[in-house]
Amino acid sequence: MNGTAHAAVGAATGFIVANTYTAPPTETALLVSIGVVAGLLPDLDIDGKLRGRITLSHKLFQSVGQLIGILMIVYSMYEGNGTNQYIGLGIGLLLFVFTSFIKQRHMLTLTGIAVIAVGLSLQETWLFLLGIFILIASVVSHRSYTHSLLGVVFVGYIAYRLEMSIGLIGVQNTCLAGYISHLVTDSKFLPFNKRGVKLFLPLSSKEF
Ligand SMILES: [Zn+2]
Repeated sequence: MNGTAHAAVGAATGFIVANTYTAPPTETALLVSIGVVAGLLPDLDIDGKLRGRITLSHKLFQSVGQLIGILMIVYSMYEGNGTNQYIGLGIGLLLFVFTSFIKQRHMLTLTGIAVIAVGLSLQETWLFLLGIFILIASVVSHRSYTHSLLGVVFVGYIAYRLEMSIGLIGVQNTCLAGYISHLVTDSKFLPFNKRGVKLFLPLSSKEF
């Protein structure tokens, strides 16, 4: 499936989760955005080690980076106070601008390192772990670890820490549902997918 389809399915899962919690409009919008990011996250590994240069997929990298930037801005408005709020705002804006220039894969590696640094300085475990995820995704081959159960567990934990940090109920379930929706729509169970996903990496390379 392509990025747009994954984003749409992710948005829908966010909307469904928000509705099960009868979340108010702002929180629903936030959960839908988180669903979009989660639905796109597995494909941060796109192109694998095949090419150093990102062609079609660089738009996807940009969209994810920009969404994370926007979420950080919203997050700091929502959570921060005083100086913290402005630091968060600044970093969110920087990330938004920075990722707009992502054209090559090594830029994604750099983004991962930047997110790790920001996570460490803000002492936000979820952000630090998200940076690790981005860093790993930028070096593994396409449809490997980010498309496995190991990836689901890792992202589930990041989302758990994010939910604890911002205190917004539904974040973890939205992330998990959005992420899993990507693996399901990439699986061989759907007739238009020629390749499946290696769910049990590193134990087995069988495609599902
Ligand atoms: Zn994928």
